[in-house]
Amino acid sequence: MKTAQEYIESMRSMRFELYMFGEHVTDHVDNPIIRPSMNCMAATYELAEESRFPQYHRLMTATSHLTGNRINRFCHIHQSTEDLVNKSKMGRVLGAYTGSCFQRCVGMDALNALSMVTYDIDRKHGTGYNSRFLRFLKHVQDEDLVCDGAMTDAKGDRGRRPSEQTDPDQYLHVVEENRDGIVVRGNKMHQTGAVNAHEIICMPTRAMLEEDRDYALSFALPGDSKGIIYIYGRQPCDTRKIESPQMDVGNVLYGGQECMVVFDDVFVPWERVFMYKEYEFAADLVEKFASYHRQSYACKSGMGDVLIGASQLIAEYQGTAGASHIKEKIIDMIHLNETMMSCSLACAYEGHREDSGTYFVDALRANVSKLNVTRFPYDIARLAQDIAGGAIATMPSEKDLRHPRIGKYVAKYLQGADGVAVENRIRVLRLIENLTMGMGAACYLAESTHGAGSPMAQRIMIARRSDLETMKSSARRLCGIEP
Ligand code: SF4
Ligand code: FE
Repeated sequence: MKTAQEYIESMRSMRFELYMFGEHVTDHVDNPIIRPSMNCMAATYELAEESRFPQYHRLMTATSHLTGNRINRFCHIHQSTEDLVNKSKMGRVLGAYTGSCFQRCVGMDALNALSMVTYDIDRKHGTGYNSRFLRFLKHVQDEDLVCDGAMTDAKGDRGRRPSEQTDPDQYLHVVEENRDGIVVRGNKMHQTGAVNAHEIICMPTRAMLEEDRDYALSFALPGDSKGIIYIYGRQPCDTRKIESPQMDVGNVLYGGQECMVVFDDVFVPWERVFMYKEYEFAADLVEKFASYHRQSYACKSGMGDVLIGASQLIAEYQGTAGASHIKEKIIDMIHLNETMMSCSLACAYEGHREDSGTYFVDALRANVSKLNVTRFPYDIARLAQDIAGGAIATMPSEKDLRHPRIGKYVAKYLQGADGVAVENRIRVLRLIENLTMGMGAACYLAESTHGAGSPMAQRIMIARRSDLETMKSSARRLCGIEP
């Protein structure tokens, strides 16, 4: 396994074609806007380092079913419900450690979904996708790589199918096929951690019909392959990261990352193609990936731990921690946070073995879990802002605090409870600002709504997976209605 430092060094050899704020970025590893997100990804390596974090070693690593080697859990194919449970717990630990989206789950979820779906396609069509996929997986495990799992297409007119779009590139599709491989064109939106990844794994974004077969594609490529263009996404207050001093950033260590990824006629060798025009399996791959990724949102309980901790701290710093309504609010926050976590754990404990040998989560509970996540972080954030008070939206900057003439007034009038350093109060308020309306809110709130699919996608799955007939028959029996 790579150490965190080795991971960061490995990123230096990636030659991404990357743009940010209208400029070509060539220093992505040391760029101050990008670096906090890379530090976050590096945390997925750091916590797996046994010498540094022995307490997390079992959670962060697993035994490869291919080689028997100890590997990072993010590269692992789940072999038991215990593996699934550990995955949920790992997400919470990392969410709490970074206070951010740490980005590596998308690749893990893509690998696991493909381990099942390539097997199922081969069984029906006699193709060789699974053995190809397993060779790729071995490479990922041996090199301890980060994969970006890329699903969401641009989609154009949402009322039309891929093949009905005026612009055929609105969904990633094949434009050429030859002896050596295929050429693809299109786009993947909202790609979490894309330029912190070694490999990008593309999957279809929706169910496909026969006429959409050119869009039913899955493949993996090194992230810096020719023709892949990355356009960095903005986040609220992102340029605070280039300010000095840094207190106003709120989370001074970590952050998230999203990119728009363009495929401008990119060549994919056959060895890296895992689905090619088997349109009837597109929905299955989407459902498998989405269910795993909805489980992964245990990360938000980890971020919730940070926000609850910050809320308790600010109450103590401001002298309100003893008030009964503050205690009530903290309990409400914990209740919401643990409810999210409980559902993520439940879908893991209720997981089952698929024919390929991979363990899959209980899809109903994974979707219930994520539907909770579309709402509860907003409630937790509201309570945090309530406890924190208006200063989260009105406070002067750190530069004002350090100013020779006005600094003493900023310090005097932002003072809280006796004995609390004013700087500490400001730091916690900035962290709450970060998580509820700043950079961290992109991860904690907007991503909670739309990441791993928007709320309606979960509702559709819940409707499909629920057994209403059995519920009706229970009701009929108890009130004496004959079958
Ligand atoms: Fe992982 Fe959560 Fe980020 Fe998705 S939002 S990649 S589940 S940390
Ligand atoms: Fe996500």
